[in-house]
Amino acid sequence: MPKFHKILTVWYQQNKRDLPWRTKNDPYWVWVSEIILQQTRVDQGTAYFLRFIDRFPDVNALASAPENEVLKVWQGLGYYSRARNMHIAARQIVNEFNGFFPDTIINIEKLKGIGSYTAAAIASIAFGLPYAVIDGNVYRVLSRVFGIETPIDTSTGKREFSELANLLLDRQNPAVFNEALMEFGALQCTPQNPDCNRCPFQDQCIAFTKNTIAILPVKSKKTKVKNRFFNYLFISQQEYFYIEKREENDIWRNLYQLPLIESTRALTIVELITDKQFKSFFEGLEVVIHSLSPEIIHILTHQRLHVQFLKITIPESEISLPWLKVLPEEIHDYPVPKLIDNFLSRKA
Ligand code: SF4
Repeated sequence: MPKFHKILTVWYQQNKRDLPWRTKNDPYWVWVSEIILQQTRVDQGTAYFLRFIDRFPDVNALASAPENEVLKVWQGLGYYSRARNMHIAARQIVNEFNGFFPDTIINIEKLKGIGSYTAAAIASIAFGLPYAVIDGNVYRVLSRVFGIETPIDTSTGKREFSELANLLLDRQNPAVFNEALMEFGALQCTPQNPDCNRCPFQDQCIAFTKNTIAILPVKSKKTKVKNRFFNYLFISQQEYFYIEKREENDIWRNLYQLPLIESTRALTIVELITDKQFKSFFEGLEVVIHSLSPEIIHILTHQRLHVQFLKITIPESEISLPWLKVLPEEIHDYPVPKLIDNFLSRKA
């Protein structure tokens, strides 16, 4: 279907944004930008991209950095497994590929955290290989232009869209085709209020003709949201307070936070101090406890966190608690979730 890519390419030439990662054809830059933009809007992602590239200008710099530092630069972006995986992948590139970014799709897919979407983006954009990229923008555009109602979160849907995208792909110039299609979805065929009146595909767009734009693309599953209840303890001991590292396989892994007691429902202070875990930490100590905040709701993609912060003052200086003791100014050396960063900034 040559017409499709010709129309798309003309649109792209007239509308493409000047984005920093487009100024250099470097697989490392493509990789960093693709990973950042997986769950982040371009305006927010641009600042993080520039900061990341400034601090880790190449694969070697990223591979040799401590993980804490990588997470610190990532702080606030969320989905921290992206940063942890990039760090591991950078070490893979150094150790298994002599520091050179792999240039075949098979080897690119061997890198930690790189799935078929990111591999196709790097292979096509950085190395000009003929693989179609299918992200959320692409699903939306193709489902609307071609009127496809197969749910995109099923294996049948994934296969159908992948076959169509690869059929449409401009094999002479896969980089431009992929970037143009994603850009078209981001700027023209947007989730809400697509600009159909000035769309070059209007006369062939099935969703426009059949008035099905609002229902496309179709998703079969509703995301289940889990409620969790976090009781954070700001434990003050003279000028110090305590933090802990999240080591479990859970949200915010390897980031730092205030000591946490998670409960199955919202707790009052009286309920909290009679909680088994709380008693195991503070049994026998004369602690003063009071609330520092009303309930805060923190929304993540699949989780709704109900959070309260409590201040606990411990007079003794000799007791040892099972957490890391820090001075307020030292917290800046540790990567922390945005929720904790916001709380500590408000306190400062
Ligand atoms: S006509 Fe509207 S819905 Fe169809 S491709 Fe263009 S912008 Fe998207």
